[in-house]
Amino acid sequence: MNTLNRLAENAAGTWFTTDDCIGCHLCGETAPEFFRPSDDGVFHIVFRQPQSPEEIDLAGVAMRDCPAEAIHCAVDET
Ligand code: SF4
Repeated sequence: MNTLNRLAENAAGTWFTTDDCIGCHLCGETAPEFFRPSDDGVFHIVFRQPQSPEEIDLAGVAMRDCPAEAIHCAVDET
């Protein structure tokens, strides 16, 4: 089982990205309300946690579409 290396720049909360991110920017296009490039531009991080059901659905689309499986929701990791 892979170890999840949560990027430190992620906002506190259940949604986060890991260093598996390849910086493809897809999540930033799908859900720019929550995902943006890290300060060094290498990764994407969650800068705001989704709150409403609609926001969580959108973040879920980004998670499913991530080609590197780098987006995670702690609720789903248990
Ligand atoms: S979709 Fe996945 S691999 Fe692409 S930038 Fe977002 S977290 Fe990184």
